[in-house]
Parts: sequence; structure tokens; C-alpha cells
Amino acid sequence: MNKIEEIPCPCCSQKAYATCCQPLHQGKDAPDALALMRSRFSAYALGLADYIITTTHPASLLYQDDRAEWIESILKFSRESTFHNLEILEFTPRAPFSSVTFAAHLSKKRKNTSFTEKSYFELLNGRWFYRNGLIASGLDEQLTGPSPEKLLPMAYFGDAVLKQKAEPVGEITEEIRQLVGAMQETMDALDGLGIAAPQVKKSLRIFLIRQPIENFDETITLGDLKVFINPTLFNPGEDTWADTEGCLSIPGIEADVERPYEVSVRYTDLNGEQKEERASGWYAKALMHEMDHLDGILFTDRLPAPHQKKIEPLLQAMEARIRKGRAS
Ligand SMILES: [Zn+2]
Ligand SMILES: [Zn+2]
Repeated sequence: MNKIEEIPCPCCSQKAYATCCQPLHQGKDAPDALALMRSRFSAYALGLADYIITTTHPASLLYQDDRAEWIESILKFSRESTFHNLEILEFTPRAPFSSVTFAAHLSKKRKNTSFTEKSYFELLNGRWFYRNGLIASGLDEQLTGPSPEKLLPMAYFGDAVLKQKAEPVGEITEEIRQLVGAMQETMDALDGLGIAAPQVKKSLRIFLIRQPIENFDETITLGDLKVFINPTLFNPGEDTWADTEGCLSIPGIEADVERPYEVSVRYTDLNGEQKEERASGWYAKALMHEMDHLDGILFTDRLPAPHQKKIEPLLQAMEARIRKGRAS
């Protein structure tokens, strides 16, 4: 039997493990997002749960689970899957975001569990991290997603820009149009329903929402993209309701926030036209959540004191991870 150093690397590079992914597994920084992606694939194949965790973006959604539970789910996936092949379909090396699209050929008890993923990586304090991915089952060569060069660096919990009151927009210039386009790509890549300019470190009174449509079975479909420039909210309804909110700047933390059921909004759209609308339900909730961002308020600030106290350790842990640029 071969020593582990001599085995072919599980990332299917046709190199020996010792000269391919092993140095990364032993602590060397990945030179680029593709090397990191390959090393994460081989870490899954070898059951190296700690490596998966330390190379996951510190603001990843995965941090909602506790660490022991997370390790167990990685090990279970490794144990139950057979790793047949890794096919790289696309690599766009840009900073601070890169993308790698790959097909992972896997099976589980003879059942084909292959999938294709367009994954996004972010360079944080000089190190690459896996941020998130858009996934399709099977081999899907058509899988596309926003291009990484269009994505904007995000402001995460603890960033001062999220606490500032944003400045009004003057004229709708080409620069503003480009910012709105990049905000849309960033929101879509991160699978968000709305995004406000301060979340991409621009302290301007702009936000975008994919208008939520409420279905009869209580699920939500994302509708048309709407751009709100210099918005104001008025006439909130007297009835309030509470439902779960999350935020791209506070990944992994969700809480019920109580807000008025209805509200009116007045705003300028991207063509410079003045608009006014009455919104209710999820749409009204999204408007109030994004409007808060323009005034330096986060949804966690809206929670009752006992609830705030409960999530405070989670927020502090996330802030510390992001500051260190390390996942653990
Ligand atoms: Zn390798
Ligand atoms: Zn938010």
C-alpha cells in the first residue's frame, strides 16, 4: 500500500497528493481560488473537516450551525460519498472575487449524486475563502451566474459604513447606473432579495429589491427588480406583524422582526422618474429593512432587548472572525 504522500491527489489533478493539495491541507495559503477549490474537493474526499471550515468565508451562512454539528455533517458527506472525478468548467481569476465552475462527479450507494457548482471565492486580508455557490444537480454546462469582476466588496457586521446615515444622490449619472448594475450582480451572486448601497461600502441613498410575490401556499417568488433612489417611507399601517429577516451583511443570523404590515414609498427610479406606491406584507418588510440601511440601522437593532442579548455573542464572534480574516 502506498503512503498517503504518494497517492494520486483526490482533486484529480494527476499529480501526487504530496505535491498538490497536501501542502495546503498542512497550512500553506492557496495561491488562487482554483487551487483552493481543488484542495477543498480533496479535503472532502479525505474527510478533512477542519480544512473545510477554516477555508469557508468567516461571514458564511454555514456559521449558523454549531461547529461540532458542522464537522459531523462534513464527515457524513465524506463517508457516504464516492468521489469519482472533478471537472473544472470555468475559472475567472479576479480580486477580490474569483469564480470557479466545476462538476463534481459523485455517487452515494450507487446512486449518482453529481452536481455542478458556480462557486465564488473572496480574498480577505490576503487569503482566499469559499464564499458561496450556485448549484445545479447533475452535469450542467449551461450553469451561469454573475461574473466575479462585477461583484462589489461587501460591508459586513462591524463595518462603520453600516452605521452611517447615507448621503442623498444628486444627478443619476453613468457612475450611478454602473453602481446599480454592480449592486444587482452582487445581490444575485449572494442570493439576496434586496441590497442597499452602504452594504457595498457606498454611503448613498440607493437600494434594490427583487419585488417578492406571495403565493397562495405561503412561499415567495422573486419578481421584478426595482431600483429606489432617494426613497422616503410614509403612512405606515397601524397593524404590525413579525416574520423572519436575514441580511447579506449579517450572514447566518435570522430573527423575527416586528414591522407595520403596510407602508407607502416615494422614490426616484433609475430613469429619473418620481414614483409612489403602497406596499404590504413581504414587499413592505423589504422596503423597511432596506430603508433602515440608509439610516445606519440593522435589523438586529430592531429586536427586543432580551433577543438582542441572546444573539450578541454570535454577532461578536462573526465580527472577530471577519477582523482576523480567519474562520476559526
Ligand atoms: Zn490536488
Ligand atoms: Zn440587510
